[in-house]
Amino acid sequence: MPSSRIDLHAHSVASDGTDTPAEVVYAARAAGLDVLALTDHDTTRGWVAAEEAARHTGLGLVRGLEMSCQRGGRSVHLLGYLIDPTDETLLGEIEHARTSRQTRMHRMVDALAADGIPITMAQVSAHLGPDATLGRPHLADALVAARVVPDRATAFADLLHNESPYYVSHYAVDPARAVRLVRAAGGVPVLAHPFTVTRGRALPTDLIEELVDAGLAGIEVHHRDHDRDGVRRALHLALAHDLIVTGSSDYHGAGKPNRLGEHTTPPASLARIVERAGGVEYIAPAP
Ligand code: AMP
Ligand code: ZN
Ligand code: FE
Ligand code: FE
Repeated sequence: MPSSRIDLHAHSVASDGTDTPAEVVYAARAAGLDVLALTDHDTTRGWVAAEEAARHTGLGLVRGLEMSCQRGGRSVHLLGYLIDPTDETLLGEIEHARTSRQTRMHRMVDALAADGIPITMAQVSAHLGPDATLGRPHLADALVAARVVPDRATAFADLLHNESPYYVSHYAVDPARAVRLVRAAGGVPVLAHPFTVTRGRALPTDLIEELVDAGLAGIEVHHRDHDRDGVRRALHLALAHDLIVTGSSDYHGAGKPNRLGEHTTPPASLARIVERAGGVEYIAPAP
């Protein structure tokens, strides 16, 4: 399928997107995509519903996740495609992250409340899908509902950004360990948006090269958080280390402006991912 349209990074209510996994699949179909990867933060809980919708609609589906990682206070996001969802070590690691996200949310809510910003854990939980991975976007939604801020973007800009006094970090696995865990679970590790300009800092080259040595298979090149220089740097690294080049929307439903298919992955890159994977089956699009 040389002309197929492939978007390899999207979120549902299983983490901090606003569409159910089935709705993400239907929306991908409606957007004219042939293949979508569902990559919720630190969870595979959306997979079953997404698979059902994919088989129903004929959309190709790459089951994956996006692991929150941290090195020296720096946040790193790792996409893990086609992993075995029953792998004990990987499951233990993402469960640890999810538990820590609960504790951290309590602390952020307490800090806001102590400063007179009226918000409770119950209000935050009201914006959370069943078993969803709890994140700052849910807190942002609660602040919007409480009319503290007009929208998610303002919530992040004013109150929830990484340098905010209300920001609390959560446990996150070391990125090199995460790369090895994804590989050990039969998955294909791809570094997400390494040169993000709009938030956080770009990753240093020596860290990326360390991840390559640990078994990194690919790098997200085409992403709205990359400016032209970021795209160039990512492509350069891909060429230098024979990494698989991907592109994606990082769709979050109504939670972010990102639209499905706004950036896509070349079919040859998807073929390389599928070829390397051994954790869970790739669901090819219906002919
Ligand atoms: P957390 O993992 O809980 O620390 O929250 C980080 C998540 O918040 C990211 O993965 C994004 O999905 C989301 N996010 C970060 N910055 C913004 C923003 N300015 N507007 C909306 N969502 C954001
Ligand atoms: Zn997110
Ligand atoms: Fe990310
Ligand atoms: Fe993402």
